[in-house]
Amino acid sequence: MAVKAIKAALKRGHRVTTNTTLFDDANPERVRKFFDEMMGLGVEGMMISPGYSYQKAPDQQHFLKRSRTTELFAKILGNRKRGWQFNQSPLFLEFLMGKREYQCTPWGNPTYNVFGWQRPCYLLQEGYASSFRELMEQTNWDSYGTGRNEKCADCMVHCGYEASAVEDTFGSFSGFAKTVKITLLPNAR
Ligand code: SF4
Repeated sequence: MAVKAIKAALKRGHRVTTNTTLFDDANPERVRKFFDEMMGLGVEGMMISPGYSYQKAPDQQHFLKRSRTTELFAKILGNRKRGWQFNQSPLFLEFLMGKREYQCTPWGNPTYNVFGWQRPCYLLQEGYASSFRELMEQTNWDSYGTGRNEKCADCMVHCGYEASAVEDTFGSFSGFAKTVKITLLPNAR
């Protein structure tokens, strides 16, 4: 059904991207074939993220732990094809493969819904702020992220860590240089 919908959207001239969450039973070869298939269909870009066991999720047993996440993503993204287009920064993909260390930037992708601005991110639910200013100024951001909060222990999700990778890309010469290198030569070390 999804493939039919993608084809129909592309036929009508829409831009189509995908967003894929992977769990601990993901098969790296099948995921790589999926990337090939999406690119073959004409999808513009792909987004991937490990499933994270946020407390409210009903199925806790299939979420990924950090070591398993990096092992899985190293298999999926290692020796990757040049034609695969990701809607994510190259350094975030490196982070998923365990090649870079980042701390979370929970305010990097704020969540707004009918209840207001969700603290601190869309995975955790620790109250709501009634305005963006209140969210930014009255949230104790330093108490979130791996090593700072047990609820964040295994999280490597893009809502918190993509922003950290972007900050690294444009905030340091080494990060920018690495991004250029990976963009030109995805499999160079
Ligand atoms: S590490 Fe960041 S993105 Fe992940 S649950 Fe914690 S605050 Fe949210």
